[in-house]
Amino acid sequence: MDESEERTGAEPLSTSYGFDDEEPPGKPRRHPLWRDVLDKQWDDWRWQSQNAIRSVRQLRNLLPFSPDELEAIGALEAEYKLAIPPYYFSLIDCDDPRDPIRLQSVTSPLEADSSYELDDPLEEDKDSPVPGITHRYPDRVLMVTTHVCTMYCRFCTRKRATMVRGGWDAISRDDERMIDYVRSHPEVRDVIVSGGDPLTLPYGKLRFFLHSLRDIPHVDVIRIGTRVPTTLPQKLFDPELVDILASAEKVWIQTHFNHPREITPEVARICKTLLRHGMPLNNHAVLLKGVNDDLETMRRLMRAMLRVKVRPYYLFHCDPVTGAGHFRTSVWKGLELMEGLRGHMSGLAIPTYVVDSPHGGGKIPLMPSCATTKACWFATRPRTNRPRYGRRSAIAASASWSRGPRRCSCPRTTSAWHAARPARSRAARQRRTATAAARAPRPPRAVAPRRKQRTQRAIVPRSGNTWYPCRWCPRADSDRLAASLGRARIIAIT
Ligand code: SF4
Repeated sequence: MDESEERTGAEPLSTSYGFDDEEPPGKPRRHPLWRDVLDKQWDDWRWQSQNAIRSVRQLRNLLPFSPDELEAIGALEAEYKLAIPPYYFSLIDCDDPRDPIRLQSVTSPLEADSSYELDDPLEEDKDSPVPGITHRYPDRVLMVTTHVCTMYCRFCTRKRATMVRGGWDAISRDDERMIDYVRSHPEVRDVIVSGGDPLTLPYGKLRFFLHSLRDIPHVDVIRIGTRVPTTLPQKLFDPELVDILASAEKVWIQTHFNHPREITPEVARICKTLLRHGMPLNNHAVLLKGVNDDLETMRRLMRAMLRVKVRPYYLFHCDPVTGAGHFRTSVWKGLELMEGLRGHMSGLAIPTYVVDSPHGGGKIPLMPSCATTKACWFATRPRTNRPRYGRRSAIAASASWSRGPRRCSCPRTTSAWHAARPARSRAARQRRTATAAARAPRPPRAVAPRRKQRTQRAIVPRSGNTWYPCRWCPRADSDRLAASLGRARIIAIT
């Protein structure tokens, strides 16, 4: 009997309830705590919401924590909300402290560790002409309709409104004003209804938003960004909700699956229902350390989504939001994963990898082409994760530069560019000179040409490692990548 069972006097529960390697959607799972709940109750979203885990006191009876962890997450409880419906909690392997579902939903002591992250990393509030609306791209607007979610994702970009207690600015928001804004801007064709989770809105209010948008002639698409299919699919068992969505006619559903285990038989059922009612399903995943940052998991996720007819649309790089630094991977990791997907899986399974650039710079799609892959860059990354500025790092970089470039392995550039690039070794230079001389002998030059000064650019990001783009490569668009990394600096090293 463990500490929590001693405290509660509960019988030890077996937590081995079906975590296997079978391909999703697999079979339904239920934590032993709820094994006696009737199916009718289990499939009722109201029961799921009422029985959601909302406090550390409930959590400590269900998961093993060290005393230090308990103290840390207890302190965070006052700051951040917690909600995990029994359905989603049942997907956690309770024996694994690094379980990917647990990492996404359970408070971690690492959330207190925020050195450089921001509350509003994308500066959505700056591009907000009306409270609740973000108008950044010409033909699209984002509409934040609520702060409530069925589950509070620990990496949420908008946690300043959703997860932070008292963060939602309810007073300044006016639903009519938001709709009026869209109505008065004929260039807006696509409205992203988000939150929080719009599917947690009372039905009357959801109907108001969707029907008002449907009646605006220049709006072609209403995208609903929701995690309800992932965390509480039972809500979409409700025919009334499906009818509201279907009646808006222009609705596209943007799901948010991050791990293959989230694709369950319940999810397969609701996906079928939504598709039958004419709502296309696209997925926005977030690249999260420990959750989906390995190739096999990513491939399984993509395959699982295709199996339930959800199109992988975007793979977002995790935003530098307060308290989510432990979820962030390097951009290289994302590119590596994309390289492992493209060409190995159906094109339908390939999302667009996107860095939402900090400070409102917008979305930047990144492709593992020769411009950005590791193969094409000089692998002279410093071992530390801290940003390095100044003369010392420049000297270090210059020293590594002197070791010479690596050969680019990109098939598109290898043949053309590397055949044409100047030879670097003395022997090769002599060979070239000899060949050239044999072909067309020229008189020796009177003045020896000045040796061209060697200059290389280094990108010093705000955090993470310094990179050195290949100077031979025509596609090394380092400025663009630097912009994606926020306050990256580009320095010239001679
Ligand atoms: S459901 Fe969406 S808005 Fe809500 S916490 Fe998760 S990511 Fe954030």
